Amino acid sequence: HKPDPILVADNVTRRFGGIAAVDVGHFEIERHGITALIGPNGAGKTTFFNLMTGFDKPDTGTWQFDGNDLASVSSEKVARMGMVRTFQLTKVMNRLTVLDNMLIGAPDQPGEGMLRSLFPMLWKSREKEIITQAESLLDRFLLLKKKDDYAGSLSGGQRKLLEMARALMSNPQLVMLDEPMAGVNPALKQSLLDHIVALRDEGTSVLFVEHDMNMVRHIADWVTVMAEGKIVAEGPPRDVMNDPAVVDAYLGAH
Ligand code: ATP
Repeated sequence: HKPDPILVADNVTRRFGGIAAVDVGHFEIERHGITALIGPNGAGKTTFFNLMTGFDKPDTGTWQFDGNDLASVSSEKVARMGMVRTFQLTKVMNRLTVLDNMLIGAPDQPGEGMLRSLFPMLWKSREKEIITQAESLLDRFLLLKKKDDYAGSLSGGQRKLLEMARALMSNPQLVMLDEPMAGVNPALKQSLLDHIVALRDEGTSVLFVEHDMNMVRHIADWVTVMAEGKIVAEGPPRDVMNDPAVVDAYLGAH
């Protein structure tokens, strides 16, 4: 057990027909750390990830996020509580500008609808704040010059950066990234890695699912290995990735 986990999962199972896609006894994400979730194709990583972020319902299991019970909480509520995710295939809106994509990421605050209709001046100043935040994140992710371009004109890697920047609009405590390196060209890879490390150093907790072992080796503080729905090994990257049993059985060619 970790000293200060931000997310704790117990006895989580998810079956599809006869297959236990996920059967996890205990799992934790340490606060202010970078945790990697790895394992061969079909190990159950994406399913587990979807369960943790409220995009799928488990058959059994309990969760706590920052000390709060997460059972039967919707994905929107999970996001408002401070946990956001990105997708393996980005969900950027191609027909909106880069800036508008960012504004979608700003969570609606309670009462914001009323503010908009009854107090337009107050709403204007709130809107300005949101735009300033969006522009400063775009600047950080090297996308500010593209803010008025359609998101559809970005490269695959830039779309990944945009999705990550958008996720940060809600000032999350925990960011969960589904294969952040997939489809990203080598030039942008390093900058993505730097962004993730910077997030951690600023106090955000990060979980990522990834096949890119180079990335895991370089930035993960903790690695959890899944196979056939179960957690089969975990520890600091050096220990886990040099463990011959893990290398042979679970990492295969990766
Ligand atoms: P990859 O690395 O290829 O993304 P993964 O580790 O993310 O794999 P999952 O996609 O979670 O693995 O799949 C785990 C198991 O659950 C697989 O056997 C898969 O076929 C099965 N599975 C996942 N989603 C469904 C579904 N919606 N219906 C039926 N079976 C599913």
